[in-house]
Amino acid sequence: MDSTNWMAEGNCNNHPPETFFPSDGVGVEVAKKICLTCPVQERCLNYALANRIEHGVWGAASERQRRRILKARRQALAAAAAA
Ligand code: SF4
Repeated sequence: MDSTNWMAEGNCNNHPPETFFPSDGVGVEVAKKICLTCPVQERCLNYALANRIEHGVWGAASERQRRRILKARRQALAAAAAA
């Protein structure tokens, strides 16, 4: 399955875990800003998408953004299958 070794390189190791589980939009933006300079941002986002992680900010994407990405992927697959 997915390796999680990359997590040790994440910027979030320098912040309290709750930073990435914000309760409001301001908190989401704070977390996303930290993610934007993270060396493992892409891997983090892919991990969250692949594992359908619902809560928290991962790879600079909010819960809502990840739902949108997954929905767009499903729609693209459905469109490709119907073509
Ligand atoms: S992208 Fe964000 S949540 Fe993911 S490892 Fe980096 S800092 Fe942590």
